[in-house]
Amino acid sequence: MSECIFCQIADKKKPADILFENKELVVLKDINPKARIHFLIVPKKHISSVQEMKEGDRELFGSLILAARDQARNENLTGYKLLFNVGRDAGQIIEHVHLHLLAD
Ligand code: 5GP
Ligand code: ZN
Repeated sequence: MSECIFCQIADKKKPADILFENKELVVLKDINPKARIHFLIVPKKHISSVQEMKEGDRELFGSLILAARDQARNENLTGYKLLFNVGRDAGQIIEHVHLHLLAD
């Protein structure tokens, strides 16, 4: 998966503004923010889309949501949006699952 931008970021082969990291995921600032706060929660495991999610990925996806919640708390956000774009027709450009955290 060496071509994948988010795998490269997770492997530290490409720079990114990483706010949090653990063994499963990274939280980083979106390079082209669409809101005052725009973070991406990215699993280290390459999964191309929610469409490709397997039963065994349930816990990982729960971790993505909890990491978003924790990051929102750190930023003292009182309200925020969590979004997965699924498929090109919905605007998914990067084919490595990521959860958007957005707040104004
Ligand atoms: P998608 O449209 O695939 O759901 O979202 C991809 C997001 O990744 C976009 O908001 C875009 O600005 C962001 N993005 C694309 N390339 C990079 C990059 O190299 N670094 C970071 N931090 N964000 C990126
Ligand atoms: Zn990847």
